[in-house]
Amino acid sequence: MIHNSIIDAIGNTPLVRLNKVTDGQPLTVAAKVEYLNPGQSIKDRIALKMIDDAEEKGLIKPGGTIIEGTSGNTGMGLALVAAVRGYKCIFTTTDKQSKEKVDLLRALGARVEVCPTNVEPDDPRSYYSVAQRLSEEIPNSYYPNQYDNLSNREAHYETTGPEIWEQTEGKVTHYVAGMGTGGTITGAAKYLKEQNPDVKVIGIDSVGSVYKKYFETGEFDKGEVKPYLTEGIGEDIIPKNVDRDLLDAVVQVGDKDAFQMTRRLAKEEGLFIGGSCGAAVYGALQYARENNLGENDLMVVILPDSGTRYTSKIYNDDWMREHGFLDE
Ligand code: PMP
Repeated sequence: MIHNSIIDAIGNTPLVRLNKVTDGQPLTVAAKVEYLNPGQSIKDRIALKMIDDAEEKGLIKPGGTIIEGTSGNTGMGLALVAAVRGYKCIFTTTDKQSKEKVDLLRALGARVEVCPTNVEPDDPRSYYSVAQRLSEEIPNSYYPNQYDNLSNREAHYETTGPEIWEQTEGKVTHYVAGMGTGGTITGAAKYLKEQNPDVKVIGIDSVGSVYKKYFETGEFDKGEVKPYLTEGIGEDIIPKNVDRDLLDAVVQVGDKDAFQMTRRLAKEEGLFIGGSCGAAVYGALQYARENNLGENDLMVVILPDSGTRYTSKIYNDDWMREHGFLDE
């Protein structure tokens, strides 16, 4: 079988049982290994869907430029799709993101503008604002805006959710995913709850982000925002892709717990993954423990991306020690 292009290799990632990091808990925890997508992250799914939908609506024309604010993974997905379909790419990102991610985007032919992390989203220097401005200045450009573009969650409704349902033969009882734009959690949760309304949906947030309080109170409280180092999850805005009604719980995980679990997943399970994966697994296991989940429970946890983008950080002992993340 020959794929027509690398785009056709997106999705249908494996579910893999976690055996050791569960520390003897009786439930089954199955990880959905999204680094096996061609762009090495779950974001290939939304990149393809956002561009497909834009082409269908006539929002992007041949030879056009795709402009997006991205922490790197969405950029990789968009850059792959752009390469195959003949578009140019400009990405804005923050100076918190790994250098590896920026280098990768440039390798795929994209222009990358690095913007400051610690400014308000509506500050003209923020990566949201710069992406917005460039999309207004550059003719025949398209700004997918993964935060508010509902093609994002639709991609997970159409692919991630059905794959989990089929791979578990409808036996999934808990669905766990980190919340960045909210697309992964919302889209697949909607599909899974349509199949079985008893499926519990657990969103993973970062300490220093607004989602947990928003889930508990319905309020957006900027006072919750504090700096943290886990990349890809947590927000200082509430994107349109988030649907609070589909969530049953939100668990916040701090950087140290996230990164230590990330390293355990690599060393004990052979899963070389990124920091938001460690956060998701740590939060999932904490939820399982607190709710006494048993051997009839089948929890699916999304592992969004690969460890290759974090070798100078999470997988570097000096970096971990500098931040007080190693227990020696
Ligand atoms: N982990 C990583 C590494 C990511 O890049 C993202 C996307 N921001 C997420 C988790 C969260 O996924 P989503 O945007 O669908 O909520």
